[in-house]
Amino acid sequence: MSGTAGRVTVPERAEVVIIGAGIIGWSIAYYLSRAGVEVCLLERAEVGVGTSAIAAGLLAPLGPLNGPGPLASLLLAGCAELSKLVAELEASSGIEIEPGWPGALRLACEARAVARLRRRLERWQPLGLELHWLSGEEARRREPLLSADVLAAVYAPEEGQLRAGRLLKALADAARRAGARCYEHCEASGLRLQADRVLAVQTRGGGEIACGSLVIAAGAWSAQCCAWLGTAVPLRPVRGQLLSVRPPAGLPSLQHLIFGRAIYLVPRRDGSLTIGATREEAGFEVRVTEEGRAWLLAQARSLVPALAAASVEDSWAGLRPSTPDGLPLLGPLPGWRNVILATGHGSQGVMLSALTGQLISDLISTGERSPFLLTCSPGRFATFAP
Ligand SMILES: Cc1cc2nc3c(=O)[nH]c(=O)nc-3n(C[C@H](O)[C@H](O)[C@H](O)COP(=O)(O)OP(=O)(O)OC[C@H]3O[C@@H](n4cnc5c(N)ncnc54)[C@H](O)[C@@H]3O)c2cc1C
Repeated sequence: MSGTAGRVTVPERAEVVIIGAGIIGWSIAYYLSRAGVEVCLLERAEVGVGTSAIAAGLLAPLGPLNGPGPLASLLLAGCAELSKLVAELEASSGIEIEPGWPGALRLACEARAVARLRRRLERWQPLGLELHWLSGEEARRREPLLSADVLAAVYAPEEGQLRAGRLLKALADAARRAGARCYEHCEASGLRLQADRVLAVQTRGGGEIACGSLVIAAGAWSAQCCAWLGTAVPLRPVRGQLLSVRPPAGLPSLQHLIFGRAIYLVPRRDGSLTIGATREEAGFEVRVTEEGRAWLLAQARSLVPALAAASVEDSWAGLRPSTPDGLPLLGPLPGWRNVILATGHGSQGVMLSALTGQLISDLISTGERSPFLLTCSPGRFATFAP
């Protein structure tokens, strides 16, 4: 038997229902399915068109870090797990996710920025990553297209990137092969509750899926799902816009990830260059704007003047699900016996996808609570107090 949600036929019951089929929902579905758990994802749009698919795919943990701490431990563990997962997925799916570790150059272009970068280097050193201080000239020897304004740089050879959209596709294919089912154009619109349990997820159009456990992995929209449980989540959408440009013919390719004060440049194997990203408080409006595009191009040109002649091939926008302390919200929702939250990954959802999938899958399938789940417990915010 099955219920219907609009024109989408949904199953009557699943052991675990996941709301949201972005990189976080799919990663959880992948690890759960491999552990033999029956999983059903509900996605109101289509897989591969949202924030997770357009992310730059940086595997560059230093950006948000100011030294050791909970976020550093999470990101370093997350990058290590993701590297293993990517190798596994490439071998099993044949999809080229294009992981690469060209190293990153983090630049300073003014005297004050040089002092700031030196302080950051000192704070980064205890993290145990390989880091080198370069003068402006040394940076230009590595990357001759850099502007003469570059005064200094930190070179981090272990930072890298991948193609986030392809990772999402490979993960979804692998999860489906392991038994996960995904219903697209199927929006969760409410919950049937009894005491401290969710009995079923209701879908727009009148369908209903009974569940043993519910995982809310709806990205920036997760707060709306939590509101059905009477819970206010401290999550805000931060819009990011990205461009893909084609450098002029004959221009040598960049060899490193480049980080300026506000933007980054990611060279791809096909010769294109991704320029990202804006950080904007624009509510839930997901669109590329003329101002965003112009700003990204101007910033890119200030770092690499030859990009003035580059042509824009594509542009995207997405919403980062951001929390007040920069850590994700992972684990049981206080006050509810069978609801788990997996969101709030901000600018790091791709880097943290494999680790999040594992942690949440272990929690559901074996009851194991990693110390990371304590750090990232939704209960750390007063708004969750039952
Ligand atoms: C411009 C930009 C660049 C980025 N670059 C990087 C990067 O280089 N490295 C990195 O690690 N991270 C990066 N990020 C961050 C990363 O993209 C996010 O942290 C990550 O994609 C969040 O994944 P998610 O699955 O939680 O959310 P999403 O990808 O937003 O997925 C949530 C899904 O839930 C669905 N949904 C919502 N409500 C419902 C409902 N009621 N019913 C059914 N479905 C619903 C949505 O349609 C959506 O598909 C970037 C983000 C942006 C915006």
